[in-house]
Amino acid sequence: MCSVYLWRNLEKRIVLHVPVDNRKEIREDLKVLEIIHDSSLFLKALDLFEKKWEHLNAFIEYFFDTWINSPFKNWYRGSIQPGFSNTNNLIEGGLLEDVLTDYSNKTEEDPFSNELFIPEDVWKKAQGMLSDDCLIKDQSIFYWTRLNGLERSKRKKVTNQMITKFSSLQRSRSFANFKMDYSLWRVKVGENINYSSCSCPKFRSYNYCKHLIVALLKLKKIEVPIQYSLKKIVSKNSKRGRPKKAGPALETD
Ligand SMILES: [Zn+2]
Repeated sequence: MCSVYLWRNLEKRIVLHVPVDNRKEIREDLKVLEIIHDSSLFLKALDLFEKKWEHLNAFIEYFFDTWINSPFKNWYRGSIQPGFSNTNNLIEGGLLEDVLTDYSNKTEEDPFSNELFIPEDVWKKAQGMLSDDCLIKDQSIFYWTRLNGLERSKRKKVTNQMITKFSSLQRSRSFANFKMDYSLWRVKVGENINYSSCSCPKFRSYNYCKHLIVALLKLKKIEVPIQYSLKKIVSKNSKRGRPKKAGPALETD
């Protein structure tokens, strides 16, 4: 289910049925529903969402009839098979040269391998995230706090209490609590890339995400390809400033 189509239609009904003062909040709540990575958590959140907004009869009725009890219910992230958009992405992106294969430290003793196609921008974002606070459990589960769409804001520190709450979302009593406690991204690193996952929406669409890359880099399972390394960009040569633009006479070749 295409998210643009979903939102275009939801928006029409929000304007029609939801009082102005509630619109911002109901949009935020629907966005939380959309990113949920797990179907049982989705059902839980849906139940709390319905209780919270049941007084908006017309909207709730429309929402459940059209987007839940219907063939169009597969729009939340947990209903999308990981990597679903991968093929489309490659076709739309078109630039296979930008996509890399297997930069794992593959050795006989440490056979963490398999193919991982990572575009340049993801390598760069991952390097920018390397120093963000994270909490690691059992050398294989990584937690980061969500940025809530504010890419430039600083990521909050992950606490054990946050992890406890995140792990017991199924017992939330209100949508407000659910929304607050759905505050983390969780990466689980398995025996190889195919058995590793992240709870974020990007991972669902592409089978990779910056969180997973950072986890693999921290475990030294993979290395940043030299051509995408940010360290290379701040090398000595770059201190001389940008190369001067070639004059018209030089542009012929
Ligand atoms: Zn992720």
